[in-house]
Amino acid sequence: MSQAERLPEYSVRPNKRARRVTIKVSSHAGVEVVVPVRFRRSDIPGLVHSKLDWIVRTLEKVGPVKELKRPDNIQLRLLNQSWRVSYRQSSDGKLRVTEKDPGELLVSGPSSAPQEVADGLNQWIQKRAKETLVPWLNNLSFELGLPFTRVGVRRQRTKWGSCSAEKSISLNRNLLFLPEDMARYVLVHELCHVRQLNHSDRFWRLLETFEPNARATAVRVRKESSSVPLWAMV
Ligand SMILES: [Zn+2]
Repeated sequence: MSQAERLPEYSVRPNKRARRVTIKVSSHAGVEVVVPVRFRRSDIPGLVHSKLDWIVRTLEKVGPVKELKRPDNIQLRLLNQSWRVSYRQSSDGKLRVTEKDPGELLVSGPSSAPQEVADGLNQWIQKRAKETLVPWLNNLSFELGLPFTRVGVRRQRTKWGSCSAEKSISLNRNLLFLPEDMARYVLVHELCHVRQLNHSDRFWRLLETFEPNARATAVRVRKESSSVPLWAMV
């Protein structure tokens, strides 16, 4: 069997900042080969071939490829906001996300490829999440008497939040997609870890003094990961 026949389908993405070739496998983009802009295209099949075992194994792990689409609507349930998204081609080099009238979001840039749009929207989400979650966590910490040392907001794929032994709290920016009571639950849950760094009975008793329905809410929150749109997970 020839090399070409055995290769899986893949897309090539030149990136100005890439120093070397990286191969990414994900359920939203399949197999992507990110290459430095001047990389010789004819060298790519050989590279893909040399990583074939890893690619096939990873493809099995991530499951069927779902198509990444540009959103027409964004519901930020935590903020009670609904945004209509429109797209405009523009020649300036950078993708921009602009809040127009209330509820109107304009995405303009040289490319409207779903991946690029997702990158831009995720930067916007990151900013909104930070300005919402950081002061909220500070207030709750003060109110409940549970001091932490640091807070970071980032995209997390599998967790809504975490707390380290150093009492440093990390919050998932996609909490913006949860209703307020569930997001609050996550913040209080992480704050309780500054006293109990485990999920012992003691931890739950502490959490239940602030969130009487903690156990039921925990179950609801776990199921909500499916409410995060695909573009916000990339
Ligand atoms: Zn926990």
